[in-house]
Amino acid sequence: MPRATVARIDLAAIRHNFGLARQFAGGARAMAVIKADAYGHGIARVARTLAPDATCFAVACIEEALAIRDAGLAHPVVLLQGVHAAGDIATCAAQNFEPVLHSGYQLDWLAAQADGPAFWIKVNTGMNRLGFRPAELSRVMAALAGRTSAFLGFVTHFAASDEMDNDATGQQTALFADAVAPWPDAELSVANSAAHFRDGQPLFTRSRPGIMLYGASPMAERNGSDLGLQPAMSLESNLIAVRTLAAGDAVGYGAAWRADRETPMGIVAIGYADGYPRHACNGTPVWVKGHRAALIGRVSMDMLAVDLSAVPDAREGDPVELWGRNVSVDEVARCAGTISYELLTGVTARVPRLYHGG
Ligand SMILES: *Cc1c(COP(=O)(O)O)cnc(C)c1O
Repeated sequence: MPRATVARIDLAAIRHNFGLARQFAGGARAMAVIKADAYGHGIARVARTLAPDATCFAVACIEEALAIRDAGLAHPVVLLQGVHAAGDIATCAAQNFEPVLHSGYQLDWLAAQADGPAFWIKVNTGMNRLGFRPAELSRVMAALAGRTSAFLGFVTHFAASDEMDNDATGQQTALFADAVAPWPDAELSVANSAAHFRDGQPLFTRSRPGIMLYGASPMAERNGSDLGLQPAMSLESNLIAVRTLAAGDAVGYGAAWRADRETPMGIVAIGYADGYPRHACNGTPVWVKGHRAALIGRVSMDMLAVDLSAVPDAREGDPVELWGRNVSVDEVARCAGTISYELLTGVTARVPRLYHGG
């Protein structure tokens, strides 16, 4: 028998969340962002689930885009990180991939290919990772003059749209609108998930929802359910041992947690080699048999311990939810000093994905 440790993926929740993203986006058409194996949910199944409603998909790199083709789908795929080799330009053209070009060397590769792909231009409005500065755009567009038919539009990315009272997003939006004004026919795309939840934020013609499709919150201090989202992943395991600790007994590596009184304790068959965060602190909620139990001690590679004081009738074999509908992945992320993105993309290949709601 395999372990009970699984990630149950609710495809109906992903459909619901995408519907909400489209509703928030108003007139903007959504690129469903399914990079990083659809944030750990499985790119082929997620792509097929969204295929009837999505006009296009967005991924980071060409390997991910090819996985969408392997899933039997012909949608345009936007490559958010552009191309990584000159030969990728021909692949993009043949496969209907739309690279977001962010640097001069990529424009040179495009220029060297007679029948290039449709493409986007990345504008750096303050994130300062990738893209051309607003002042460079007229030179860039002049160099592309012979290819205007394949030019789709401009993309920029926000640095702090998850911080609702940070005005940097307003400044980036204004800078972007001003920079692209000379090309009124271009498509324009700015909106990651967080931007969908900002009052008065223009989303222009194309949105790029990612994390919200999976039901997690793009804002650190909120849970996905506060925003009307449904969690798509339920990370589950079971109790493989139940013991009673005596006052003074320690649990796990480094004896990092010690019982101050007699304490019922359970061992769960999941650890950091499954993607459960090793830095989750004492007290991180773990759902056991309808109750919130508390993580205790250090998370091991293949198991972790919970205080079962709140679950008096817990027995070996009982099911456990590490995150999902009862314990939000956003809450676990806060307890581990990270964000839901890292937890969802970090669930390892050892954990089988089981799909329902398709
Ligand atoms: C990953 C990514 C997104 C999606 O961001 P979320 O915060 O997950 O919604 C949007 N745009 C770009 C350029 C990205 O890399």
